[in-house]
Amino acid sequence: MPKNIKKDLLSRLNILSISARYDNSCSSSYGKRETYPYDISNSYLSGICRTWLSNGRYISLLKILMTNFCINNCKYCINRRQNDIPRAILTPKEIADITIEFYKKNYIDGLFLSSGIYRDPDYTMDLMIRAVKILRYKYHFNRYIHLKLIPGASRELIEEAFRVADRVSSNLEFATEESLKKLAPDKSFVKVYQPLKIVREIYEEKGLKAPASTQIIIGATPDTDKTILSVSEKLYHKRMVRRVYYSAYISINKDKDLPLIEKPPFLREHRLYQADWLIRFYGFKLEELFEDSENLPLEIDPKLAWALRHLEFFPLELTKADYYELIRVPGIGPILAMKIIQARKYGELSIESLKKLGVPLKKAKYFITIKGKTPLGLTKKETRFFEERQLNLFVSFPSTLLFLHQNQDNISFPKA
Ligand code: SF4
Repeated sequence: MPKNIKKDLLSRLNILSISARYDNSCSSSYGKRETYPYDISNSYLSGICRTWLSNGRYISLLKILMTNFCINNCKYCINRRQNDIPRAILTPKEIADITIEFYKKNYIDGLFLSSGIYRDPDYTMDLMIRAVKILRYKYHFNRYIHLKLIPGASRELIEEAFRVADRVSSNLEFATEESLKKLAPDKSFVKVYQPLKIVREIYEEKGLKAPASTQIIIGATPDTDKTILSVSEKLYHKRMVRRVYYSAYISINKDKDLPLIEKPPFLREHRLYQADWLIRFYGFKLEELFEDSENLPLEIDPKLAWALRHLEFFPLELTKADYYELIRVPGIGPILAMKIIQARKYGELSIESLKKLGVPLKKAKYFITIKGKTPLGLTKKETRFFEERQLNLFVSFPSTLLFLHQNQDNISFPKA
């Protein structure tokens, strides 16, 4: 390839990989392997990110936009029509060639391809599909490809995109239509839901969960955590997506409708992921997480918050509790619950056996008993509390409960 074209290609690649960073709808994070500014092995500038597949395997992806030209003017987006920023576009063949080149050099295992809307949704979706088809049918690239579906594209193109990619996504952006209309005036709920509905219909015939995901932006609108998670709960219930990604709003543009924030609400994003996990894998109902507020507490994780509101559920006697009771204990998740149940079959539970299983007693000790006793590894403050009341260090649960009641605002529980 002539040198000037290569440099031009690299500068476009750089523009488009930077523009793709704000999309979270694959569980990705960027590496920091930086070399020279225009070196193709500069993973940070070239848009190489790490992601985790549903089987827990970790892979590297080239995360890139086909173009950052966009006919839409979403107020929160760096690529919106009215922004005066460097713009670039790659042809389908260029995308395929870059992907193959990176793959052969062992930089990446797959591709995450998104795009601004260039000319119209069908035109853009078609370009993206052509890039994937070159990869699949000409270069026989059978590795992971995540393709962003373009809202407003025709059903035929959505179906085709779904056929050539491993995973697809379409961003809802916001939990309510009101927020969407305010900050993304060119979009509507009908348009952003449509690609996910089509994918679900195809998959329903097969009786499987759709391999799709979506993203909701957090903190750019007054939508509460409860409203946001109620949307996620419905999407999971209808089997429309496998994952909802929450993306802390990053202030890039100035607009009267956008909030002024100093830092993105990353902790809130983290709490939403924890609550989402509780709904999907722990059997928590949405209402259980929002009994006294429309938002999740930021100081402690939502499962611990639920436990502190429901001390009547505890102590849980570990020698008798069933699986669903065990996973309600702060610090005990599905894997530990199964291990405890297995361990009970082969012997008596003890503090030592719980430690060997990996039960985080520092956190769980307030909520469990073993044969009626609390397995305590006491802090100095706790020791003082029990000694002042002339209680044994290996005490019965009511004393622990009392301690918890009196000190719950001051206890620094280990972080989840
Ligand atoms: S459609 Fe909206 S969010 Fe997507 S690239 Fe265009 S301006 Fe950005």
